[in-house]
Amino acid sequence: MRLRNKPWAKEKILQHPQQVIPEPEKYAGKWRELFQNENPIHLEIGTGKGKFITEMGKKFPEINFIGIEAYDSVIVTALDRLLESGLENVKLIRMNARMLTEIFGAGEVERIYLNFSDPWPKRRHEKRRLTHKNFLQMYERILVPNGEIHLKTDNQQFFEYSLVSFSQYGFVLKEVSLDLHQSEFQKENIMTEYEEKFSQKGNKIFRCAVYLPE
Ligand code: SAM
Repeated sequence: MRLRNKPWAKEKILQHPQQVIPEPEKYAGKWRELFQNENPIHLEIGTGKGKFITEMGKKFPEINFIGIEAYDSVIVTALDRLLESGLENVKLIRMNARMLTEIFGAGEVERIYLNFSDPWPKRRHEKRRLTHKNFLQMYERILVPNGEIHLKTDNQQFFEYSLVSFSQYGFVLKEVSLDLHQSEFQKENIMTEYEEKFSQKGNKIFRCAVYLPE
């Protein structure tokens, strides 16, 4: 993602604490209190500009969605989309996913979406990949038993790496597609910004859904 300098972004985020949650660690283990319901919580890690999470929020009002994004300059666009939608079942957190277990309690999350995660192809950056075993350990902790991770990418190497990493960790492959847009999963699929961009270029989209058996 090309980062544009938006010095005003931080201030704008601070003005919308109902949408971009300040001090999210205060809600660890208590996110349902914030949403004021008992609905399941689905996270998207690396939300980017927020198209996926806002469209999912509209399509599934009975799910609480939380989008996590590392950069003010990017999440501020997701904030605009969220404000425009008026949705109350979607919240955003500006943070690095490395802090995930400080923000969510054990077994608090039903599903995690990883959409077009940065592939970090260099070996020395492996630990930054969102499917590195260090991240899988955190996902295991915050997911409910049998909770799922849904991953989409157009990057074949990252997809292969993730499949191996998931299976070495003990995740079970529930669904896999090497060409999502030509598959049975397409009719339920909500496209992300990156997905639109790369599929328009003719790239195939890889997708898998995995879970850790009890
Ligand atoms: N998911 C969006 C999509 O499919 O259009 C954006 C994809 S973009 C390639 C990856 C996004 O993940 C970027 O906005 C980046 O800032 C964010 N990101 C990468 N690593 C992250 C991390 N450790 N914690 C939070 N966000 C992260």
